[in-house]
Amino acid sequence: MKVPYLDLLKINKSYSEELRSAYEQTMDSGWYILGKNVDAFEKEYAAYSQTEYSLGVANGLDALIISLKALQIGAGDEVIVPSNTYIASWLAISYVGATPIPVEPRLDTYNLNPELIVSKITSRTKAIMVVNLYGQSAELEEVCAIAKQHKIAVIEDNAQSQGATYKGKLTGSWGDINGTSFYPGKNLGAIGDGGAITTSDAELFKFCKVFRNYGSQVKYYNEIKGVNSRLDELQAAFLRVKLSDLDRTNALRNDFAKVYDEGLANVGDLVLPKIAADATSVFHIYLVRTKRRDELAKYLSEQGIGTVIHYPIPPHLQEAYSELGYKKGDFPIAEEIAETCLSLPLHQEMSSEELEYVIDKIKTFFS
Ligand SMILES: *Cc1c(COP(=O)(O)O)cnc(C)c1O
Repeated sequence: MKVPYLDLLKINKSYSEELRSAYEQTMDSGWYILGKNVDAFEKEYAAYSQTEYSLGVANGLDALIISLKALQIGAGDEVIVPSNTYIASWLAISYVGATPIPVEPRLDTYNLNPELIVSKITSRTKAIMVVNLYGQSAELEEVCAIAKQHKIAVIEDNAQSQGATYKGKLTGSWGDINGTSFYPGKNLGAIGDGGAITTSDAELFKFCKVFRNYGSQVKYYNEIKGVNSRLDELQAAFLRVKLSDLDRTNALRNDFAKVYDEGLANVGDLVLPKIAADATSVFHIYLVRTKRRDELAKYLSEQGIGTVIHYPIPPHLQEAYSELGYKKGDFPIAEEIAETCLSLPLHQEMSSEELEYVIDKIKTFFS
């Protein structure tokens, strides 16, 4: 049996009719940039996120960059960010000229440890970029309380967690401004690149809306030096189809995660995902840890099972960040996760046979 890590074709084929009709309607409208679908999607995604506004942009990285720009964060500023996130969170901070200040996660939830934030706040700290990693909400209330106390902003990187909640409130609605990604493999994935900003702050929203479109509200009248970072009509049309089904597919991912939880309990030295009491997860990733990670990945690959490492090298040890002068040992929790983590196949179109096959092979490996 072959079990791919992710089967985008199967996922998107399950919406085949609606996606084709969305394509035809867009094609036949003759209007391809910033039209009715982007408008409608922005309203629907804001309603879904329980924020006043949402704004479609070209991708998740841009959503974070534009959010930082809106907060007027730039050269000389510091932004606190998890040591174990996907590098895009760090890159957005670097791109605006600010410095990422890494803070370690908790080893059980993999999300930012609020207790470690305060000692990293300096007079230059302008914001905390909190990441809802692998599908689980971070400790957003605690992070926001610290930010408020120190009069700094919060930006959520919600690329992996559309639909997750913390204390019943949706991710992407806690920060002053938040970015998400519709990269095809995300829980809400387009058929190409896409991203969005969510906020309930009218001023921040207005800045982003003008900035994403050349700094212009009225064509050929430019108020600020903006960029071209627009979600396009076709992707917005596709995303509307998939957004209306997101809660169902997130629930399926939770069901399948439970099957793994039960099937893999007490197998070898496997550490299974832990969801904090106040958090929920949309299981963007089902991540396990083991000291025998490389061996396990190789064995599963030989059995036809795809796995991925999220992520093999933490940002502070990436060549791209050599300028910051960090070395191995500086962020031991991030390094420990990088050395032991393995993501198992998980998506809404998986069959119970596939899930059982993966569980079976993992048990065989450890027996
Ligand atoms: C995917 C991702 C991004 C970037 O999204 P793109 O659309 O690929 O630019 C940012 N942060 C995290 C945590 C991600 O997983």
